[in-house]
Amino acid sequence: MTDKKNLRTPIVCVMGHVDHGKTTLLDKIRGTAIVRGEAGAITQHIGATEVPIDAIVDKLGDPRLRDHFIVPGLLFIDTPGHHAFTTLRSRGGALADLAIVVVDINEGFKPQTYESLQILKRFKTPFVVVANKIDRIGGWVSQKDLPFAATFKKQSYDVQAMLETKLYEVIGELYNQGFAAERYDRVTNFQKMLGVVPVSAVTGEGIPDVLMVLLGLTQKFLEANLQYSAKGPGVGTVLEVKEEKGLGATLDVILYDGTLKKGDTVVIGSLGEPIQTKVRALLKPRELSEIRYESKFQQVNKVTAAAGVKISAPGLEGALAGSPIRVATEENLDEIVAQVKSEIDEVRIDTGSVGILIKADTLGSLEALVHEFRKDEVPIRKAEVGDISHRDAIEASTVEDPLYSVLIGFNVKVHPDARDFLQESTVKVLTSDVIYRLVEDYQKYVKEQQELAEKKIFETIIRPGKFKILPGCVFRQSKPAVVGVRVLGGVVRTNADVMLENGTVIGKIKGLQSDGENIPSARVGKEVAMAIDGATVGRQIKEEDVLYINVPERHAKVLEHEIYNSLSTDEKETLDIFLMLKRKDNPFWAK
Ligand code: GDP
Repeated sequence: MTDKKNLRTPIVCVMGHVDHGKTTLLDKIRGTAIVRGEAGAITQHIGATEVPIDAIVDKLGDPRLRDHFIVPGLLFIDTPGHHAFTTLRSRGGALADLAIVVVDINEGFKPQTYESLQILKRFKTPFVVVANKIDRIGGWVSQKDLPFAATFKKQSYDVQAMLETKLYEVIGELYNQGFAAERYDRVTNFQKMLGVVPVSAVTGEGIPDVLMVLLGLTQKFLEANLQYSAKGPGVGTVLEVKEEKGLGATLDVILYDGTLKKGDTVVIGSLGEPIQTKVRALLKPRELSEIRYESKFQQVNKVTAAAGVKISAPGLEGALAGSPIRVATEENLDEIVAQVKSEIDEVRIDTGSVGILIKADTLGSLEALVHEFRKDEVPIRKAEVGDISHRDAIEASTVEDPLYSVLIGFNVKVHPDARDFLQESTVKVLTSDVIYRLVEDYQKYVKEQQELAEKKIFETIIRPGKFKILPGCVFRQSKPAVVGVRVLGGVVRTNADVMLENGTVIGKIKGLQSDGENIPSARVGKEVAMAIDGATVGRQIKEEDVLYINVPERHAKVLEHEIYNSLSTDEKETLDIFLMLKRKDNPFWAK
């Protein structure tokens, strides 16, 4: 071991869109290392696989590289996807030290590709982009397990050109996302540029290059992060809470600092008070050769970071995925409990004030969601780990503002009684397993609600209207006066008050008729018969008079300040003239 600087193994997470080859890539990285057993076998952890530096150097084909590398190997998280990445959080950051973003070079970017990039950007995690499935490029001749440069050289000119074209589409997309990127062997400064490695996870072409870039990133960015003390108290993150036959609730934990021993007192985050318990057993997967044993696990007495381990202990039922686990001593137990509690409280929200409700399956995904909604300045009433319960449904329904009477669920179930309740209520429920889709869906919902509200205003607001009494069309003098009118601008409608140009209100429109039919309103250009209650022809009004709808002051304000842009040109003109008439005597009218 060149554990010269006492650095721990960096933790690597594979991310990217579904079906783009994350699992295949992980299998390939692990598989090839197993085959080359002589050069240092991989170690299977719980939830992770450790590929030792010797196996990696062996793949790179240059033993001289051995002394360059300062870490003992790479620890790959077995569960691919940004979900594992966000679950594996540590205070204020991501637990994974490095990431691989896999993108199918033939399909290009998809929703979860974007999401992976967003998450990595937020956590400032160094990563490499893998442009996968190059073997699918038409005419590609596969060269099993060769480094990229070697296999590329063996392809025809056309095939090379095709790869470059597709690669630059990926690079262009990365650019659009705010990342300067290049084919990794053209990157001169990894501090300024992302490396993109073309690979085939199936044939293994380009895999050595991926490992090399990861080690390169480690040397460049992580030396300080990876300093650790093997003798210090163990610190880790709960990857999963799992029921195991004969053991009850167990925790799959990624340990990232110090040592964890059988019998240690540990403190673990839960929904309520942190759990304090003693480690009964530390379990690792049984070696393949020992498969004849009943149990899948073998016991070990201690584990040192970085490692994945299963913990069996009493009272683990309420533990939260994504929460911290820390070894405590008798002396510092209270301090550690407080520390774990404050870490959980940093993520959970329970304000009771107006805002949306968020439920997520792990602390990490909850943290990511809260971050995204806060970025959009969306108020949050409650954010909690767990399924959507009847209580959540009721709580959301008490929020009056439809914009916030919303339940967001990430990777959680809706309890049947909550579902029944929600069906009858006006609460908006948005669930998804893609974080940024939830944010987008919420934005869409807000927009719809705003449009709806605007439409409602539209329907109730009295709108401007201007009309002229036509000559020779006085059908009745008074009680009510009935006259023929032409609408010159805007709209006239029944029950609206009628105003003269000098501002005097002379009556109310009692009815409108067109071709002998009663109609509620008439738009610009229409000629209709109008009954005006309160006015007498020859006294207040006469033929050829131009009259206005008297828009109430409150409505005029809404028209001018809130929905002016959605008015038609003739309505705008009519409103402008109407306001001018009103403001002749009172410059502050409707201001
Ligand atoms: P994941 O959902 O991202 O984990 O994707 P998988 O690893 O399950 O891969 C999805 C499909 O793509 C499977 O059928 C794989 O065999 C296939 N696949 C993955 N990588 C490659 C590759 O490099 N070349 C080819 N031809 N197929 C691949």
